Amino acid sequence: RKLTVSLDHCTYPIYIGAGLLSQLPVYLDEVGIVPDRKLMVISDTQVAPLYGERILASLKQQGYQVDMAVVPAGESSKNLQQFEYLIGECLRFGLDRQSVILALGGGVVGDLAGFVAAAYMRGIPFVQIPTTLLAHDSSVGGKVGVNHALGKNVIGAFHQPAMVLYDVDTLKTLPTRELISGFAEVIKHGLIWDADFVQWLEKNSAELLALRPEKMIEAIYRGCEVKVAIVSQDERESGLRAILNYGHTIGHALEAVSGYIHYTHGEAIAIGMVGAARLSAKVLGTDESVVRKTKELLEAFQLPTQYDGERFPEDRLLLAMKRDKKVRNDEYAFVLTRKIGQVEVVRGIAEEEIRAALQELRKDC
Ligand code: NAD
Ligand code: ZN
Repeated sequence: RKLTVSLDHCTYPIYIGAGLLSQLPVYLDEVGIVPDRKLMVISDTQVAPLYGERILASLKQQGYQVDMAVVPAGESSKNLQQFEYLIGECLRFGLDRQSVILALGGGVVGDLAGFVAAAYMRGIPFVQIPTTLLAHDSSVGGKVGVNHALGKNVIGAFHQPAMVLYDVDTLKTLPTRELISGFAEVIKHGLIWDADFVQWLEKNSAELLALRPEKMIEAIYRGCEVKVAIVSQDERESGLRAILNYGHTIGHALEAVSGYIHYTHGEAIAIGMVGAARLSAKVLGTDESVVRKTKELLEAFQLPTQYDGERFPEDRLLLAMKRDKKVRNDEYAFVLTRKIGQVEVVRGIAEEEIRAALQELRKDC
């Protein structure tokens, strides 16, 4: 299936299907990336042996000059040191301004390789080849970058890919916890924008967890569709795009307080979305059924909906929220929900309301 992203200055396709990787040269050709252009595949130590070698061989067979650079798997590779290493690899292989980077991996590789593409010779094209479910989110929209020791994603750029090629077959080798974590962002896209999609997810949770290809393609297609709709109205996050942070205020705080080990990103935002729904009931008078439905849907996908309040006290979570770059002038801002499929940014929320919502989110509550 194909989706098209249309922005002011560029247009690019997102292809989603099964078995697409084996036809990579055909898809490259479709966006004008022909064998007279050098290619650099960037991947990680987990994904390269699974899919990288195969891609390299098929591209070479089609006459492409192509090399591969690999970074250690995991978030800790998303830094300036790996960035510099990769720029060196691009120089060594002789990439020029017509050359293309192929980002093969999850969100870490996509963000890092995309940032290399954004900076190398002031910007060369790149192609996103996502291999995690979470990357249906990160590969679309053009936000690329790396972390600094003092903050996540604080060094970055906007650089849109030339194409996104999503082969759902790659998800078969993804660890179950990563898969489930990715569903949190899929569900988020439904909750913020598309009530029909939420209903569809409810109905198909078992088949999705079993990775039925046609269902996976549909879920990723509809998740991307939401992201595309939002990004094309607000490419540079001046307003609307902020709603993509639904569940992320509490989620980021949980990740930070737990040292980024206890919860995966998806698990943290799953809890965060229930928290945001509870807060919405307090602040906006949103119907309690929204909280219940949110919880049930996340639980159907085996995601957590409560946190360990003994280990991560409210005070520490509130402090982490204050440090979050999205808190302005000491004011708490949250993406809150009116009903399933509809959210808005609300500023100036009282700390007491947040504290109360957090208390209800505790496991021992
Ligand atoms: P990840 O890239 O680290 O992948 C998770 C793990 O799975 C890694 O160990 C990886 O090696 C492995 N893996 C990947 N694909 C595999 C496959 N098919 N089979 C087996 N193993 C595989 O993490 P992620 O969850 O994909 O992405 C998280 C990153 O995405 C974070 O850094 C986050 O900041 C970023 N992100 C960016 C955006 C954006 O808009 N740019 C949006 C959301 C998240
Ligand atoms: Zn997220």
